[in-house]
Amino acid sequence: MNNLKKVSIIVPCYNESESLLLFYNELTKHLPETYLYEIIFVNDGSDDGTLEIIKNISNNHSQVYYISFSRNFGHQNALKAGFDLTSGDCAICLDSDLQHPPQLIPELLKKWEEGFESVFTKRIDHDSISTFKKITSKAFYRLTNHLSDVQLEVGVADFRLLDRKVVDALKNFSENEIFLRAVIQWLGFKQTFIEYKAGERIAGVSKYTFKNMFSFALSGITAFSVKPLRFSIYLGLIFAFLAFIYGMYALYVFIFTDAAMPGWTSILMSVLFIGGLNLLMLGIIGEYLGKLFIENKKRPNYIISETDLLK
Ligand code: UDP
Ligand code: MG
Repeated sequence: MNNLKKVSIIVPCYNESESLLLFYNELTKHLPETYLYEIIFVNDGSDDGTLEIIKNISNNHSQVYYISFSRNFGHQNALKAGFDLTSGDCAICLDSDLQHPPQLIPELLKKWEEGFESVFTKRIDHDSISTFKKITSKAFYRLTNHLSDVQLEVGVADFRLLDRKVVDALKNFSENEIFLRAVIQWLGFKQTFIEYKAGERIAGVSKYTFKNMFSFALSGITAFSVKPLRFSIYLGLIFAFLAFIYGMYALYVFIFTDAAMPGWTSILMSVLFIGGLNLLMLGIIGEYLGKLFIENKKRPNYIISETDLLK
């Protein structure tokens, strides 16, 4: 009995009171009996009674634990907390809305037994996923891959299995705005993937709004690459060159022709245009500067207000 391997399951929850019990029942149906389990629910500052439900499950099932944050710290930090506190030989994380089908867990474990240390899943698009979400997620991967130094595969989800070795390596990361998908890929180890069809969320609403996704994309790019900074140098050079040509032309008109200067419209336009570009570039620099500022404080990724992991 004692030589069974232990699998940790990490489930981030933010206002999931409607789906949790359903999720838990579905999850436990698909866990192979040949392992020991530790199921960790991470309550990410919910305000709809999610914590009470989790505590209830935890009190009734000895292999279920909870971690509760002092406020909402975001999905990535909830996952990070789970990985930081697991004790299993491997850890699997999945969403609590059943969009990550627990039926896949046996397959993930099989890959792990085959010797893979980092098994991720790839979503194949499903009709029930809105066109908007499909398009934005595709655009997201295109953009991040183009601009950043780590290549992410299209449709990779935060549903994965990590071997103890990878989990331990991950503990060393304390960067704010941690972008797990890219960090885990950056870590290396023996990686493989399996594909799945995403379903519709069983209850509640998606917590990723367009605004969230946009800032996710921005931090995904700026956390992994300084290419956008270089981009501003190229753009700056191009426009300096264009401005030089235009200046020569203006000089030519002034010296060799009688034509009056063509008025201030063109001047105004170029001033505005260059001004706009300046602001864009300042924005890019500001984004990195802001990152340095935040990182420099070395604040923790999350604050735990209560947990029964030591029970
Ligand atoms: N989540 C979280 N903190 C947040 C937002 C989301 O822990 O600030 C959890 C949420 O409860 C769910 C998972 O992260 O288990 C994915 O969120 P969601 O289903 O809203 O995202 P989507 O599937 O729409 O991308
Ligand atoms: Mg979801």
